[in-house]
Amino acid sequence: MITDLFGRALDYLRVSVTDKCNLRCAYCLPAEGVPLVPHRDILTFEEIERLVGVFASMGVRKVRVTGGEPLVRRGIVDLIGRIVRIPGIESVPMTTNGLLLAQYAGFLKEAGLSRLNVSLDTLRADRFAEITGSASLPGVFEGLAAARDAGFKRIKINAVLIRGFNDDELFDFADLADEWDFDVRFIEYMPFAGTTWERGKFMPASEAVARLREKFALDPMEKRSPSDPAYAFRIPGRKGSIGFIASVSESFCQSCTRLRLTAEGRLIPCLHADVSLDLRGPMRGGATDGDLAALIQEGARLKPKAHEDFLKNFSSEAARRRKMISIGG
Ligand code: SAM
Repeated sequence: MITDLFGRALDYLRVSVTDKCNLRCAYCLPAEGVPLVPHRDILTFEEIERLVGVFASMGVRKVRVTGGEPLVRRGIVDLIGRIVRIPGIESVPMTTNGLLLAQYAGFLKEAGLSRLNVSLDTLRADRFAEITGSASLPGVFEGLAAARDAGFKRIKINAVLIRGFNDDELFDFADLADEWDFDVRFIEYMPFAGTTWERGKFMPASEAVARLREKFALDPMEKRSPSDPAYAFRIPGRKGSIGFIASVSESFCQSCTRLRLTAEGRLIPCLHADVSLDLRGPMRGGATDGDLAALIQEGARLKPKAHEDFLKNFSSEAARRRKMISIGG
């Protein structure tokens, strides 16, 4: 078991497989862009497989594949198959913007990918172009249809809730959940370096819930696991569900069981803390699996009890240094 200093058992690893993305979301990628990591510094498939194997031997059971955009990594289907086959790994979901799913959904299903979270912040083409820099909203829907046809169940839609941008689409997303039987999850807008975050664009999940309650009865759903960060509701008589990840206004640090591995092989114990530990260097320098396990345990001990309160400290220099695109979402 990987445990941190506060008794949390960390059994969930998010692996960023590339720092590249085919979208330019204003809340994620700094306007000036980020320097791309040289290819030689990105973990190879063999290295990812080896590291995930070490994590699995230490009790990690769930590995979420993310990025950047994971589907732009060449050979991604092969990599998914390799991770799925690692002894101890029980679940391998992916977070994607969905643009390449029309091409890959069937292959991902065959390779054993467990589930899909598709990030989609607006259902309006003009807004999609504004926030992502791409006119490809129809491509996301083609991808979603392909994922459904490939047999993926309980597809999640992740939407970053941004006041003045998409907060008037709450009911449209509720309709989407019903029509496609999707689990829609609104994520509170978190501050990252160089993005368009500002206090006025932040909307707490509680406000969105109150708005939805004006029109719908919301039946709270039981959490699938204690570490699930979302609280979710069913709307009676409708399919799918609507939920919220209130990472800013009601942080869930005490039940956080996550670790992150960046595309360049850094272990990040908390999305919002300026601590990380290099695994690639020691691995390439000849570290044994035992050495790597010791480093992973050391990295886990860097996990803070809780992250800072962004609303009290929203101009925090630290928050503004961290880049979601580089950490891996
Ligand atoms: N490219 C993939 C995608 O779009 O899902 C995976 C990487 S992306 C960084 C992972 C998730 O982080 C997405 O759901 C995205 O909406 C979320 N995200 C990025 N920046 C965010 C921010 N400032 N606040 C909240 N969520 C954010």
